[in-house]
Amino acid sequence: MRKIYEHADYAVIGYYQSILEDEGILTLVKNVGAAMGTGEIPFTEVYPELWVMNDSDYGRAEAMLAPLHHQGPPEATTLPVWTCASCGETVDGDFGECWNCGTERPPIP
Ligand SMILES: [Zn+2]
Repeated sequence: MRKIYEHADYAVIGYYQSILEDEGILTLVKNVGAAMGTGEIPFTEVYPELWVMNDSDYGRAEAMLAPLHHQGPPEATTLPVWTCASCGETVDGDFGECWNCGTERPPIP
């Protein structure tokens, strides 16, 4: 069993857990009480933790969560590279027209 993630916000842990469980990866959440703030539990720096039950699933689980950890800025970088219909050049998604011949980008579906 290996810990794959911890976060101060239990909602994030629960969200990640649901993603992994949907893929059939068994998980365990520890320190749930730390996030509840009932007053019964003394303040600690213990955060809710998400554990993967089977070590053999760890690599797969990590690969699934990694994109969520490293989401870049929205917009620009998320636009796909497109190919100019006029000259066949490959153009970065940031550009609204072909850098080579000036043809406008086709509509993004
Ligand atoms: Zn072009």
